Amino acid sequence: MKGNLFIISAPSGTGKTTILKEIIGHIPRISFSVSHTTRPAREGEKDKVDYFFVSKESFIESRDHNDFLEWAEVHGNFYGTSKQTVMEQLEQGNDIVLDIDVQGARQLRSSSLEAIFIFITPPSWQELKKRLTGRGTDDQTTIDLRLKNARLEMKDAELYDYVIINDDISTAVDVLRAIIIEKRCKNRRAPNGTPLTLADLT
Ligand code: ADP
Ligand code: 5GP
Repeated sequence: MKGNLFIISAPSGTGKTTILKEIIGHIPRISFSVSHTTRPAREGEKDKVDYFFVSKESFIESRDHNDFLEWAEVHGNFYGTSKQTVMEQLEQGNDIVLDIDVQGARQLRSSSLEAIFIFITPPSWQELKKRLTGRGTDDQTTIDLRLKNARLEMKDAELYDYVIINDDISTAVDVLRAIIIEKRCKNRRAPNGTPLTLADLT
């Protein structure tokens, strides 16, 4: 594969969407894999931009066609990554970021795909609770389920190559940017295979 595959996981409410918004579009030649989900769209979320919002039937059909690189049931909904989109991006020499849960990351860890696994943690439980509540997008039952699952997800942090603590947002963004750039420097090339230039690093 020409491009680099970055896998990012974090307990819900940690801030990975916020961090990724500061990365995608700000670093050249890196895109975000838009997942399929059966979860209803939150206010402000756009179909095909944040997720492909699909019915359970449609999701199962795609899954049974082997269209997903990985998929999992998370917090009571199905989520999956389009195999075709990711492979096309990597083949074209673009880096791609997957925001997926720990079950999906495990599936990819045990696959033959080469990837960089990054786990983002909240600075404390109290702060995670505050962020989930403060986001104002989920009801109390959903928040409680996500907090309960967060305790299990945190145990998987050790399976990842890097852990980023999202305390101060700009520091967390800087650290993620550094990991992406480090990988490019290590490869000694830009994602499309051309020699590295300053434009690929800033
Ligand atoms: P996730 O995608 O991990 O579920 P979000 O990116 O939606 O989480 O962030 C959850 C909430 O926490 C949002 O309201 C966001 O503005 C806030 N948030 C994210 N990062 C920080 C941070 N470093 N400090 C304070 N609030 C944050
Ligand atoms: P949310 O509903 O808050 O957007 O996401 C809930 C969880 O589902 C998060 O942990 C997120 O990383 C995960 N998720 C989103 N897309 C996918 C996917 O395609 N596959 C898997 N396995 N998890 C996903």
